Amino acid sequence: MHPKSTFRPDISHGATEILVQCTDVAHTYGLGSTAVVAVNAVTCSVIGRARLALMGPSGSGKSTLLHMMAGLEIPTSGALTWPSFGGNPAGMPEQVGVVFQGPSLIPSLDSLGNVAFPLVLQGLSDMDAERRGNQALEELGLGWMAKKLPDELSGGQAQRVAIARVLATGPRLILADEPTGQLDRETGQHVIDVLLHAADRLDAALVISTHDPEVADRLSERWLMNDGTLREAELTDQKGNRP
Ligand code: ADP
Repeated sequence: MHPKSTFRPDISHGATEILVQCTDVAHTYGLGSTAVVAVNAVTCSVIGRARLALMGPSGSGKSTLLHMMAGLEIPTSGALTWPSFGGNPAGMPEQVGVVFQGPSLIPSLDSLGNVAFPLVLQGLSDMDAERRGNQALEELGLGWMAKKLPDELSGGQAQRVAIARVLATGPRLILADEPTGQLDRETGQHVIDVLLHAADRLDAALVISTHDPEVADRLSERWLMNDGTLREAELTDQKGNRP
């Protein structure tokens, strides 16, 4: 086995645009005897229109790697660049959209308010932000949730609103951190449908971290994480078979 992960763009995607490049990236939480090496010497790249499952058991470093790819966590060593974005995309929801693992909606805003909020931060007027927010909710079949507050939504419904929030800002890279981790199988499948639809509609790359092989089977490429190391890549077709 190779001592460190090295994955290069898969030209079968028909695109060579590199969105994220990680070179020997590592992240350690804490110092000294309490230090935890969450990600260890990972080299990989995510290209435009990728459909990628980041697999591995709980604690293997998937969230930390995704957060670094989003620019939300800084590597403790190695180099992380975003060649197509012109710099760290944190705070640029038109470049990278993140669907977080747990609840991420603002509790005091209804679904429409949550979806429109980043658009207002981007400089849209309240009216334009609401219009685009409504479009995103409608497109994902969630129009009826517009006036619902987060605590009136189930976990699966809240995840779909969070995906509508990503769709509304139109990023080129969607990073979803265990988006089905707390959902039953059927609801989880629906959330993955919605994510794939959003990525297709935006022509965006999609990276989903998951420990669920059924989720991974919906994506064309798999990366496997173990103890902070990206140790193996397995290309699969849509049914999870090797091409
Ligand atoms: P995964 O997403 O695969 O479950 P994580 O990236 O969340 O993995 O965690 C990788 C390792 O880093 C685990 O051992 C976890 O306990 C540790 N870790 C994650 N976040 C923190 C933190 N904020 N402080 C200390 N350790 C952390």
